[in-house]
Amino acid sequence: MPRHVPIRTPDVPDRARYQDYKPQLRQDFLHACGYCGDGDRFYGGLPGYHVDHFAPKKRFPAREFLYTNLVYSCPYCNRGKSDKWIGDDPDQSHDGQAGFIDPCLPDFDDHLERDAEGRFVAKSAVGGYMITHLRLYLDRHRLIWAIQTLHALRERAQSLRHRLKADDARYVPLLEAIAEISEQIDDYSREVFGAPAQ
Ligand SMILES: [Zn+2]
Repeated sequence: MPRHVPIRTPDVPDRARYQDYKPQLRQDFLHACGYCGDGDRFYGGLPGYHVDHFAPKKRFPAREFLYTNLVYSCPYCNRGKSDKWIGDDPDQSHDGQAGFIDPCLPDFDDHLERDAEGRFVAKSAVGGYMITHLRLYLDRHRLIWAIQTLHALRERAQSLRHRLKADDARYVPLLEAIAEISEQIDDYSREVFGAPAQ
């Protein structure tokens, strides 16, 4: 699955606290972490997710309330990234060797990709830096990627099933395939959460 490049809504009005931007960010990032792509449903939805300051607010306080500097983030990526920044310029996020790429830039995908099992693979030195410092190597991201991919596959199979008549020769095999996909989702969910999918 190609990554969906999130788009920040332009001209978002100023808020008193940066947490107040979270519902808008959630919408713009399609309920998923900008860095690892894990859906927030796996972390208890909006309350479980963080507002990441791409250029860290501790280093660059003027950017604390700048919507274009905010990333909807899972707690793992947000804690991994922390206050890391390669230099003193908030507009220079990387030097070609180290640093971060804003997930709202299509360039993000020039540095990172997923292999067939959902592991992050570096396409550049900066991609390697991000895997290390955001801890994108954590197994949970591979497993959640697999669950999300299987969910999308099951949705496609179910919409096909709705279009078939019950006496169609493909109907029963399709039902069996859907059951098999559901079992795989439960297996992956047990592996990452210790419980089957809800
Ligand atoms: Zn994440």
